[in-house]
Amino acid sequence: MTDLVLEHVSHSFADGVAVVDDLSLEVPSGHIVCLLGPSGCGKTTTLRLAAGLERLQAGRIRIGDQIVAEPGFSAPPERRGVGLVFQDYALFPHLTAAQNVAFGLQGNAAERRRIALDYLKPVGLTRLADAYPHTLSGGEQQRVALARALAPRPAAMLLDEPFSGLDTRLRDAIRQDTLRLLHDDGAATLMVTHDPEEAMFMADAIAVMRAGRIVQVGTPLEVYHRPVDRFVAEFFSETNAIAGTVGEDRCVATAYGTIGPVELAPGTDVDVLLRPEALEINGVENGATADVLTVRALGATALIDLRGPDSDQHLRARLPADRLPRPGERVGVAMKTGQALVFPRQDNT
Ligand code: ADP
Ligand code: MG
Repeated sequence: MTDLVLEHVSHSFADGVAVVDDLSLEVPSGHIVCLLGPSGCGKTTTLRLAAGLERLQAGRIRIGDQIVAEPGFSAPPERRGVGLVFQDYALFPHLTAAQNVAFGLQGNAAERRRIALDYLKPVGLTRLADAYPHTLSGGEQQRVALARALAPRPAAMLLDEPFSGLDTRLRDAIRQDTLRLLHDDGAATLMVTHDPEEAMFMADAIAVMRAGRIVQVGTPLEVYHRPVDRFVAEFFSETNAIAGTVGEDRCVATAYGTIGPVELAPGTDVDVLLRPEALEINGVENGATADVLTVRALGATALIDLRGPDSDQHLRARLPADRLPRPGERVGVAMKTGQALVFPRQDNT
């Protein structure tokens, strides 16, 4: 097992503010871990530390049983056995696609070319092996970069927002290819993204990062359905927030349903967060009602904006597109209580 392990890694630039703050993370070989967080939270810096492009100030980084960085020691990138795909990690312009992939390989020219072609094939670039980078599209260049990173069979793969420059359709296809290649390859992959959907699609585990720290690590379903705090919950999708209070029975009663028991003291003021798909629209006979303001069809689903008749409560529901209410209609509203997320109310909200 050649895992990539970061232990208590911290880093600050000239102004002394810690942009990576006591960060620990394990990436098992054969797994894809996504480092997910908003812009500026320290994701790229973490990856550059793992790659050896930034000198380590505190903590330790291991690949398998090799320490590749600790204070006072930093193995150079080419000695770490890592493959890098960075958004701005450009191809060599004077080398063809195949020569780019062959660049870091051992052996004679014929052998290196054969391996390069072996890695260009699964990314669909056999035909373009002898093309120069400036004649390739952005997606093709990115696939060459991926093949180049994989070809030396690195123990660890480090990818920084590798798909962000691509348009949607191309991105989906390349994500699929990349996922398959990385899993086949068995490297420990650490991939950085600010896009929750991309992380959900690619990751075996997601590490959610905020202000230099990891706030939650879990499978995509765990972090989506059981976020540790409101920040994590709201990072994955917009939410409806409904105010409530924990009752004596430790349940939270709202107009749209009762949740609990919860592990909070009776009397605690809470916000119940509901993702749009956690709201149900039904008949007006029982329970809460709301007026439909707008219906926006998005293909398979639609977003419905609603307003409770007796309150200013604004709600947004996501429904399958086949049975939609109409604007102006009054409908019944209920929550899927199993999907409700309950957090103590924050003073500033
Ligand atoms: P992310 O990849 O999550 O967007 P970065 O790791 O690039 O975040 O940056 C984290 C913080 O460190 C940001 O505030 C950024 O401005 C700062 N930063 C990044 N690189 C440097 C640098 N070379 N010198 C000074 N500050 C930097
Ligand atoms: Mg970045």
